[in-house]
Amino acid sequence: MQEFDLINRYFKSAGAQRDDVELGIGDDCALLSPPPGKLLAVSTDTLISGVHFPVNTSPEDIGYKSLAVNLSDLAAMGAQPAWVSLAISLPSADEDWVKRFMQGFSSLAQEYGVALVGGDTTRGALSITVSITGFVDSNTNFTRSNACEGDAICVTGTLGDAAAGLRLILDNDPRQSHYQALLHQLNRPQPQLPASQLLQPYRIAAIDLSDGLLADLGHICERSGCGAVIELDSLPVSQTLREYYADDMHWKYLVNAGDDYQLCFCCDDETLQLIQPVFKQQAIQLTRIGVIRSQPGIRCLQAGREQAIDYTSGYNHFKHEN
Ligand code: ADP
Ligand code: MG
Repeated sequence: MQEFDLINRYFKSAGAQRDDVELGIGDDCALLSPPPGKLLAVSTDTLISGVHFPVNTSPEDIGYKSLAVNLSDLAAMGAQPAWVSLAISLPSADEDWVKRFMQGFSSLAQEYGVALVGGDTTRGALSITVSITGFVDSNTNFTRSNACEGDAICVTGTLGDAAAGLRLILDNDPRQSHYQALLHQLNRPQPQLPASQLLQPYRIAAIDLSDGLLADLGHICERSGCGAVIELDSLPVSQTLREYYADDMHWKYLVNAGDDYQLCFCCDDETLQLIQPVFKQQAIQLTRIGVIRSQPGIRCLQAGREQAIDYTSGYNHFKHEN
């Protein structure tokens, strides 16, 4: 199988068909017509084997996840996904691998109406770079710098499941088959586009949780020039995760856990009152986990008492910012 056979067979008609793709795969560039009055939201993520996913991850899951993490960035920006480009580096032109990779990639692209409009195919160590483009209204109000003193800090879904899934794999834990839900959360994160859609009318500070709550909320605080107080007992935990950790359950697993791809956002109390019933109606879990304060730094409270944050190697990122 040659590069062009792979392109024609597996990339050319992948994802959704869209009228705003004037010219898709097959020429030197894709030609796209953005809707008038919208801004383009553009984001890129690279996934490297053994770094961003365990080496034995299935091609379907790698395909799904490489698009999901990009959709998650658009969700955090309040953008509607439209077009995606896929640069893929493969050790060999393994047709079966590409076919399975594209099954995972395309199923998610179809689900969110995203067209694959171009990319690059090269030989090398397995690595995938996805660039996604979406649309936002020109008066969009989702930036990380929007948090204000007194804002509620909210998260969608539950925290820590993906990190526990990763631990199951890295520890070669024999209980893997019992904890499929945790592995699923690691390999198939749900981009929070529906939640993002519901938040459209409001001014919020938003970020997607990829590096862990403390690290990512730290970015909001830094950009907004504020700090935060987190109520550790309010952090949302799945039933499965409680069972997995049993007596060893500790909040530090939740605040440092990466790869959840939930949405974390800050909004005023009035907005929170308005959105709570809407989220409930749509069956999207929403939890208020703390409050924005003007004093810099993130403080974690449990039963009213401040807990020392133990800086692990997992979030060096955050360390440099303070
Ligand atoms: P060029 O030589 O201009 O870089 P290529 O030969 O790399 O073009 O690619 C031919 C066409 O196939 C281009 O339209 C390119 O966008 C598309 N393409 C190549 N690889 C991929 C891929 N992995 N996914 C989607 N489209 C791809
Ligand atoms: Mg090329």
